[in-house]
Amino acid sequence: MADAVYMMPNPMTPNQCVVIDPKKCKGCNLCVDSCHTDVMLPNLEKGKPPIVVYPDECWFCGDCVQACPVKGAITMEFPMNQRVGWKRKDTGEFFRIGMKNPPPPNTRPPEE
Ligand code: SF4
Ligand code: SF4
Repeated sequence: MADAVYMMPNPMTPNQCVVIDPKKCKGCNLCVDSCHTDVMLPNLEKGKPPIVVYPDECWFCGDCVQACPVKGAITMEFPMNQRVGWKRKDTGEFFRIGMKNPPPPNTRPPEE
């Protein structure tokens, strides 16, 4: 067949869904394999970071971040409407669900 077929990424949306740090990523593609909606594709160059092809298909489930063996190689970029803030009635402190070291009462051990 003479005709070539290309996969085109969706146009970039303001939100990137996940950000991969090319200095930390070792290109193992475990994040790619863990994604239910195939947001990323393996890089054609072995050992290079995966390519985020369909950012607007992301569910923000975080499975790719969980699957990554290198701390900080891939991070979630939640859209603005999912960065919900809460305020404690008694102290007036602002916090976010899932944030590191929220103000007390914090039932989880402190994180670095
Ligand atoms: S957060 Fe979930 S849906 Fe989004 S890229 Fe990662 S694994 Fe895929
Ligand atoms: S799982 Fe982590 S190290 Fe492996 S390709 Fe994805 S971001 Fe890179």
